[in-house]
Amino acid sequence: MEHTRLVSPGSFCWNQACPDFGKVDHGNIIKFGRTKKGTQRYQCRTCERTFVETKGTVFYGRHHDQETILECLAWLAERNSLAAIHRVKGIKEETVTAWLREAAKHVEQIEALLIANYRLTRAQLDAMWTYVGNKGQKGDMRKKRNEAPSGAARP
Ligand SMILES: [Zn+2]
Repeated sequence: MEHTRLVSPGSFCWNQACPDFGKVDHGNIIKFGRTKKGTQRYQCRTCERTFVETKGTVFYGRHHDQETILECLAWLAERNSLAAIHRVKGIKEETVTAWLREAAKHVEQIEALLIANYRLTRAQLDAMWTYVGNKGQKGDMRKKRNEAPSGAARP
């Protein structure tokens, strides 16, 4: 089965405002020392933001590997059903929704990984989040913006 090569957290810039965001092996990421706990730190030379290897913590302590989890989320984004994932990959619907619920707490990180690895569109990502009915921080922000009163100061 063919799919995109999975990238490591230290191989691309996580900053969505950066011109080099999500570009894998683009040469903009350099090693940038280690944290006090010994975790490798990286810096994007384009935006100068720093990142650590543990980005994407949703994957830690799970029975399935990062690639499987991301692939299932990408499948959902491509409008495959939970039942289809169960049939093809043998992973229970509850398991996938649990990943998605966890992923919703790390919207920015998960979206960066999905975009970098699976070339998903904004619309596809939004479709994926509707499975948990929670777009996390981003959804809240969007809602607030829409609810902002306009012309309230009018005499
Ligand atoms: Zn950057």
